[in-house]
Amino acid sequence: MHFWLVTLPWRSLYSRTVTAALVVALLLATMYQSQAAAPEPKRVLILHSVGREFRPWNAYAKDIRAELDRQSRWPIDVQEHSLVAARSGDPRAEELFLEYIQELYAGTPPDLIVSVGAPSAGFFQRHRRDLFPTAPILFTVLEQRRVQYQSLTGNDAVVAVRHDFRVLFDSFLNISPDTKVVAVINGNSPNEKYWQKEMRRELQPLDGRIEIRWYDDLSYDEVLKKTASLPPHSAIFWYQMIVDAAGVAHEGDRALTRLYASANAPIFTHDDAFFGQEIVGGPMHSALGGSRRAMEVAMRILGGEKPGDIKTPPSDFAPAKYDWRELQRWKISESRLPPGSQILFREPTVWRRYSWQISLITAVMLLQAGFITALLHQRRRRQLAEVQARQRMAELAHVNRFSTAGVLTASLAHEINQPLGSILTNAETAQGILKSPSPDIVELNEIVDDIVRDDRRASEVIRRMKSLLTKTPFELKSLDLNDVARETVEFLSTLAVARKTELTSLITPNSLPILGDAIQLQQVILNLVVNGIDAMKDMPAENRAISVRTSRVGEFAELSVSDRGPGIPENKLKEIFEPFFTSKADGMGMGLSIARTIIEAHSGEIAAKNRDHGGASFKIRLPLTQIV
Ligand code: ADP
Repeated sequence: MHFWLVTLPWRSLYSRTVTAALVVALLLATMYQSQAAAPEPKRVLILHSVGREFRPWNAYAKDIRAELDRQSRWPIDVQEHSLVAARSGDPRAEELFLEYIQELYAGTPPDLIVSVGAPSAGFFQRHRRDLFPTAPILFTVLEQRRVQYQSLTGNDAVVAVRHDFRVLFDSFLNISPDTKVVAVINGNSPNEKYWQKEMRRELQPLDGRIEIRWYDDLSYDEVLKKTASLPPHSAIFWYQMIVDAAGVAHEGDRALTRLYASANAPIFTHDDAFFGQEIVGGPMHSALGGSRRAMEVAMRILGGEKPGDIKTPPSDFAPAKYDWRELQRWKISESRLPPGSQILFREPTVWRRYSWQISLITAVMLLQAGFITALLHQRRRRQLAEVQARQRMAELAHVNRFSTAGVLTASLAHEINQPLGSILTNAETAQGILKSPSPDIVELNEIVDDIVRDDRRASEVIRRMKSLLTKTPFELKSLDLNDVARETVEFLSTLAVARKTELTSLITPNSLPILGDAIQLQQVILNLVVNGIDAMKDMPAENRAISVRTSRVGEFAELSVSDRGPGIPENKLKEIFEPFFTSKADGMGMGLSIARTIIEAHSGEIAAKNRDHGGASFKIRLPLTQIV
């Protein structure tokens, strides 16, 4: 290698040296850069009181970890320990724990110690001189009374809260003024014993107003028995339950959950770490607020500020908040809550829960109601239109009857004249007989009988004419179609004779009970027969023949009018029923249209067809009322 270097030309050697220098410089720059981009992690030691899972401290610890991550500009290396010795307050256990921590961090004290809870704070303050005296400590999640302010060093900072038990009790008594008894739930560990004393002292002024029950010397099971049968108008104040009088430690939520399941009174407390299921609510310390404040101070310390210079006054209870479900359960009116209170866990109303379903159903119902209204409106209009149509039909039919009557007049005049003529002849004959000396009484009797018969005939003709021309409202009555057919044919016989047309009727022996208006149906038959007579007027008299037949076909009564005339052009078979369709010079074109309207008003049908051997045939079908 050496030899190889020596034999290298000078220029080449120079360029290699420069390249190596550049590479080294580049490496150094990169190292420097990577150092700037990734600052040293900050080592944080968290010391929990008693254990990691004791409430309320565990709720705070969770928020502290989250806030550390959220607020930190540096990578955080967290190590956590629990001061198990605090359960019993055994000094030997504390001594051993102290040695353990000292050994663990010997030579490399943490960048920051976060002390969670009063027992942990007590431990550090007792051993401050032996425990990393230069490392900063942040005392938090504790009440200011638990801090020995006079022994704080320049490396200590405090973020504490301030309890005021009177505020808590007064606040509860305000929303539930009938309360007579308050049972206090608190454990028996050294820290809890401290608070027992403090509470008794602070709540003394309430003596006489309410009875406060203390269960210091009871196991938790006994406490639960007591709280299951409290007298009416009682409440429970939950402080905490770390270790009970029997020495049993209660981790996590279990103690409170069990109390809630068996107690017969509402529960209130001082810290929202307990709030969310079992607690009615009120003013409480905020776990999140406290943790956030503490970690803001932690960041300042990690940033280089001297802990002793950071002074944070203890915080009071946060504004009251309540659990809506518990307010309902204990019938506490919202109107009693202090102004500005927050109500949580409100059950959504039916409307909120099913808003879109309700909207949909309402919309559908409204739509339906709209449809129904529209349909009813339409129905009413149709009914009105039907009534109007019937009135118009009756009026038109009446007009049409006049025109038919006009056709009939000549023959009817003849029909009346004839009996009148024979009455006159008979009367004159009777006069002659009466003039004879011995009048033939028998003959006179016969003559008078003839006169009466002729008179009746004439009256009958006038009656029929009158009934045809009387304007009567359309009215359906039970009748036999055969009777209507018979009477109409009789009515028309004179006309048929006068028009030299043979009019025959073939009436079925079966009765044809229908619901109908006799005058209107008579008019239909009249129209059909007169049309038939008209159609055959140019034919030789011997060929003119019309037949009216009735029959029963299934559930229907049928009546047909057939002639031997020229028939109806095939393409006009439907059109002839339209108003104003006429092939006659003096025709109105209303007869068949009125006939169809009348038949349809009877729920029937009318149709025309041409007969096989010439002539037209009209058929009416009406529903029978009795079906045999
Ligand atoms: P109008 O008798 O005033 O013409 P209708 O409505 O009674 O009115 O008759 C309409 C038309 O139907 C008649 O003009 C005629 O052309 C035709 N019609 C009716 N009945 C017969 C029939 N029996 N034979 C041939 N055509 C007929």
